Amino acid sequence: MLLMENDVDFNKVVRQHLEMEQFFTGFTIRRESRMPEKAPQKDEAAITEKSRELDRIAEEVRRCRQCGLGSLRTNAVPGEGHADARILFVGEAPGADEDAQGQPFVGRAGKLLDKVIAAMGLKRSNVWIGNILKCRPPENRDPRAEEIISCFPYLQKQIETINPEIIVALGAPAARTLLNTNKSIGQLRGQFHEYYAGLGRPPIKLMPTYHTAYLLRNYSPENRRKVWEDMKKVLAELDLPIPEHSK
Ligand code: SF4
Repeated sequence: MLLMENDVDFNKVVRQHLEMEQFFTGFTIRRESRMPEKAPQKDEAAITEKSRELDRIAEEVRRCRQCGLGSLRTNAVPGEGHADARILFVGEAPGADEDAQGQPFVGRAGKLLDKVIAAMGLKRSNVWIGNILKCRPPENRDPRAEEIISCFPYLQKQIETINPEIIVALGAPAARTLLNTNKSIGQLRGQFHEYYAGLGRPPIKLMPTYHTAYLLRNYSPENRRKVWEDMKKVLAELDLPIPEHSK
């Protein structure tokens, strides 16, 4: 048997990752998927205005040096997606691939998120994807409190602009920041919480789930099933069809 240095069964790891990839691609849609954009009669001018505001925020992020990460980045990663998305995915911070390309979730964890989104019967262009921090922490260390405090207002403005029906918080740092709690992701995931959207605005439903990077590091059929159960709740809440696993 081929063993890695730390006694991890390499073949087993490859097999598990393949299994996870197959799981998130082996879905069939039972009925025609309704696109997740908001109502078709939505005022196009209002959507264009949202797009412009998101572009304005992105420009502000690219110029930002409010915390030390601003001088370390290759590219800021403001986030991207549909300006009128019904679902907004939020992760922790850009990694090396994201920093190099200036786009969110484009590395291995991003490819897995693409598969999860596709497994939901959606396209990446239908949703909006971003992070709590807009610049990469060195060596992918955990975000520091002062960095989150400096950066979080950008995401708050983006959420306020898009006004999604559901936020999916990927991983503990995103869920804890958005919900202002210290609970673990294990305690938070699996049920809807409420994101406080500001004075006079209704709260937005928030589903915490495991980050796809965590899934890659801690693959198990159980963790994979938990993420899929969380996404099924999101689809049900939006009255979207729930794809069936075809295998
Ligand atoms: S991490 Fe956020 S606050 Fe810090 S420099 Fe980048 S955009 Fe500005």
